[in-house]
Amino acid sequence: MKIYNTLTRKVEEFIPINKNIVKMYTCGPTVYHYAHIGNLRSYIMEDILEKTLIYNGYKVDRVMNITDVGHLSSDSDSGEDKMVKSAKEKKKSVLDIAKFYTDAFFKDFEKLNIKKPETIEPATNLISDYIELIKVLIKKGYAYFSNGNVYFDTSKLKDYYVLTNHKEDEMVVGVRQGVEKDPNKKNQADFVLWFTKSKFEDQELKWESPWGLGYPGWHIECSCISMKHLGEYLDIHCGGVDNIFPHHTNEIAQSEAYLGHKWCNYWVHCEHLNDKNGKMSKSNGDFLTISLLEEKGYNPLSYRLMCLQSHYRKQLIFTFENLDNAEQTYKKLKQKTLSLKKEGALDNNKFNYYKNEFLNCINDDMNTSSALTVLYNVLTDNDLNEYTKIELVKSFDEVLSLDLLKKDVHDLDDKTILYIEEKIKLRSKAKENKDYLTADKIRDELLNKGILLKDTKEGTVWEKN
Ligand code: AMP
Ligand code: ZN
Repeated sequence: MKIYNTLTRKVEEFIPINKNIVKMYTCGPTVYHYAHIGNLRSYIMEDILEKTLIYNGYKVDRVMNITDVGHLSSDSDSGEDKMVKSAKEKKKSVLDIAKFYTDAFFKDFEKLNIKKPETIEPATNLISDYIELIKVLIKKGYAYFSNGNVYFDTSKLKDYYVLTNHKEDEMVVGVRQGVEKDPNKKNQADFVLWFTKSKFEDQELKWESPWGLGYPGWHIECSCISMKHLGEYLDIHCGGVDNIFPHHTNEIAQSEAYLGHKWCNYWVHCEHLNDKNGKMSKSNGDFLTISLLEEKGYNPLSYRLMCLQSHYRKQLIFTFENLDNAEQTYKKLKQKTLSLKKEGALDNNKFNYYKNEFLNCINDDMNTSSALTVLYNVLTDNDLNEYTKIELVKSFDEVLSLDLLKKDVHDLDDKTILYIEEKIKLRSKAKENKDYLTADKIRDELLNKGILLKDTKEGTVWEKN
C-alpha cells in the first residue's frame, strides 16, 4: 500500500510500526458550529484510508479529538476562543454548544457512511494530562513562562518547520499576517501551551494550573490525546491541508520535544473543498452542510461519490452542477447494482482478478476514481455472471461505502413515495379518531412492504426497513 507522506513529500510504501495494528490519529472538529461539507471531505478521505487499511488486512486503532476548548478565532495565538464566542452568541453554555454540535457531527458521519473512530476524546477531558506534559516541556527547557502564558520555544528545535519545507522567514511572515506582535514571546514563531492572560477575559472554562487559572492552547490537545491512547509511536496522523501549519507543525514540535524521539511516521492531508469564494470555512459563516443538501433533496451519498470521483490531494470545486452530475451518476449506478440477480456460481478467477485491480487502485495513494472505474468494468463485463458481480460490488463497498446493494428511500419511485405518504395520512386520521386497530393495520401493512414508520415530535417519518 502506497501513500503520500507530507513529511517526506513523497508517495511511500506504508510500513506500520507493528505489523498487526495500525495506530491512526485524526484531528477532530471544533464544535462551535455545524461541520460543513468541506470538513466532511477530509473525514470521507480519512474514512477511505482507514477502510483501505482494513481491506488490506490490518487492524486499525483510531483516535479522534473533539475540540471543545482552546481553538482561537485565529490560527495564531490571538482572537477569541471559537467555542466561547459561539456560546455567547447563542446564549448557551460552552458545554451545551459542544454537545449539540458533536451530536450533529456524528449524525453527518452516519449519513455519509463514515465509520466512527474507536476512541473519541473531548479536549476538556484531559486537562491534567496537558498540565503534566507542559511541566515536562518546561523542565526540559523547551517551554517558558512569560507574562501569564506558557510558550513553546521554537528556537530550541533543530527543524521546527520539518513538515512544511518552508524557510523560517517565509513562515514567520505567514504567522504575522493580520496578527499583532506578541511582545512576551522570545521568537515570533513560539506558540502558547497554556493561557492565563488574554485580552478576552470572559473565557468560561478555566482550570487551576501551576501557572494560574487558565486554559490550554489548541495544539497541545492533539499531542496529548494521541499519546494517551496510542502511545509514544504513531503510524498515521491526518487532517486537512490547512492543519499542516501551524497545528501539525506545533504538534510535532511539542510531542517530539517531550518524547525525545520521532513521533509519527506518516502525515496524510486532504486538499480543500473550495467554493466560488475559495476555501469553504466555518468562520466566514457562508457554507454548506449535509442537512442543507438533504433539504434540497440530495442524497448525502451522492456527495460522498462526488468526493471519491476526484483525488484527495487535488482541490475540489463545489458547484451544484457538479453535485447534480454526481447524483445522476449515483442513481444510475444504484439502478445497475440493485438490479443484479443472484444468478450463477462464483467465478473465482474473475473475482480475484477484479479484486486485485481494485486493491491496486486504492493502494495507489487512495486512487478512488480509478477504483470506481474498476467497479464500472465489473458491471459492464458481459462475460461475468451476476452472482460474481454482486460479490465484487459487496467487497468494493467495504471501502467505498456507497450502500450499493442497499435499497433506501432515494431508490423508490415517485408513485411509491406518494402511496406511502397517503397511507401515513390515513393512519394519522385513524389515530385522531382513536381507531388504533386501523392505525396499527396500516403500520403493519407498510412494514410488510419494507417501510418502517416512526412517530416523532415533528410527525410520522418513514424509512426503508
Ligand atoms: P475544524 O472543525 O475547523 O477544526 O476542521 C476539521 C477538519 O476539516 C480539519 O481536518 C480541517 O483541516 C478540515 N477542513 C477545514 N476546511 C476544509 C475544507 N474547505 N476542505 C477540506 N477540509 C477542510
Ligand atoms: Zn489536531
